[in-house]
Amino acid sequence: MTKPPSLSSLPDTRGYFGAFGGRFVPETVIPALEELTDTYLVARDDAEFQAELDHLHRTYTGRPTPLTYARRLTEHLGGAQIYLKREDLAHSGAHKINNAIGQALLTRRMNKKRIIAETGAGQHGVATATACALLGLECIVYMGRVDMERQKPNVFRMRLLGAEVRAVDSGSRTLKDAINEAIRDWVTNVETTHYLLGSALGPHPYPLMVRDFQSVIGREARAQFLERVGQLPDVVMACVGGGSNSIGIFHAFRDDQDVRLIGVEAGGRGIDSHEHAARFADQMIARVGTLHGTKSYVMQTEDGQIMETHSISAGLDYPSIGPEHAYLRDIGRAEYTHATDEETLEAFQSLCKLEGIIPALESAHAVVEAIKLAPTLSADQTILINLSGRGDKDLDTVLQALDMEP
Ligand SMILES: *Cc1c(COP(=O)(O)O)cnc(C)c1O
Repeated sequence: MTKPPSLSSLPDTRGYFGAFGGRFVPETVIPALEELTDTYLVARDDAEFQAELDHLHRTYTGRPTPLTYARRLTEHLGGAQIYLKREDLAHSGAHKINNAIGQALLTRRMNKKRIIAETGAGQHGVATATACALLGLECIVYMGRVDMERQKPNVFRMRLLGAEVRAVDSGSRTLKDAINEAIRDWVTNVETTHYLLGSALGPHPYPLMVRDFQSVIGREARAQFLERVGQLPDVVMACVGGGSNSIGIFHAFRDDQDVRLIGVEAGGRGIDSHEHAARFADQMIARVGTLHGTKSYVMQTEDGQIMETHSISAGLDYPSIGPEHAYLRDIGRAEYTHATDEETLEAFQSLCKLEGIIPALESAHAVVEAIKLAPTLSADQTILINLSGRGDKDLDTVLQALDMEP
C-alpha cells in the first residue's frame, strides 16, 4: 500500500484531496480557473500580498477575534472547560468576511474589476458586497426570488453597500438556481469577472483557497489557546455547511494528532425524516457525486437528482460538503456528527442566557455537540468551539420557532 499524502501537501496539483475535489466544469471556464490558480499560488507565497491582507484584517475586519472562556456554560454542564473562538465579532458578523476580503484582493491582482457571487440566505452576499465596497469593485449578487423574499434585510444591506442584487426566477428560485445563474454569467464574462465563491467548495482552486483564507481562524485560536491555557484543546468543533469555518479552524490543528476535530452538520428534522443536510449521516440518500464543480458527498435521489435539504439555519442548508471534509472523514482525521433543529434552538438559548452571546443558528449546531460531550469529559479537559457568526439575522426564525412575542 502506498503511504497517504501528508495533510499539509493537500490538495494535489489537480485539486484532489484523496478521491475528492477536482474540477467538474464547462471547458469555457478552465482558463479562468487556471489563471486564478496561478495568481493565487503566487499570492500565497508573496509577503506583500499577505501583509496587505493582514493589515486589512487588523484595521478593518477586527482581527484577531477574541478567545472567550465560557465560564457559566462550563459550570452549568460540569465537565470539560469550554472556549469560544469569536468569529461572531468579525466585521459583518461572521467568518465569511475573511474569505471575501482575500478573494477581493486577488481580483484586484488579476486586474479584474467585476465580481459576481451567489447567495442563499444573503450572508455571503453581504460579505462580498462589503469587500467590494472596501476595495472599489463592481459587485453583482445572484439570489433566488424566494430567498430574496425570505431574507429582505440582507437584500437591503447588499444594496446599501452598493451591490446589484439580481433575482433568479428559474427552478426552485433558491440557492442552487442562483449558483447556475452565476456560473452562466461567469462563462459569458470570464475575461473581466471573478466569481467569488463563498465556501470551501467548487472546482480547484476554490476549496484550497477558501480554506487558506479561513485558516486565519485556526492560526489565531491555536496561538491564543496555547498562551491562555498552556496546552492545546482536546477537542475542536465547528458547524459544517459547505465547510469553510470548520476547515478554517481545523487546519491549524491538522497535524496535532491528539486534538479531536469534530464537524457538526445540520440534522434538521432528524436523519430518518430525510429532511436535513447531514451529508455524512444519511447513507440512504448521500453518496459520492459531483455538484457545482467538485466531487464529494451529495444528497441525491436514486437516479442522481439533487435532493432538497432542510435546516433551521440557512447557512447549513446545502446538499454537498467541501471535498477536504470528505477526505478528512475518510482517513479518520476528523469526525462528523449532526444536531437537529430542536437541539439547536435549545443550545441557542443556553448560550444567550448563560454567556450573553446570541449566536448564529449555524454556530449553535456546534454548541449542541459541546453540550453533549462536555459532561462526558473531565474538568482538566478542554473544548474549543468555533462560534462562526452572530445571531441577529436569525431573530425572526427563532421567534417563530419558539412561538414567542417580540
Ligand atoms: C454561511 C455560514 C456558515 C456555513 O458555511 P461554512 O462554509 O460551512 O462555514 C456557518 N456559520 C455562519 C454564521 C454562516 O454565515
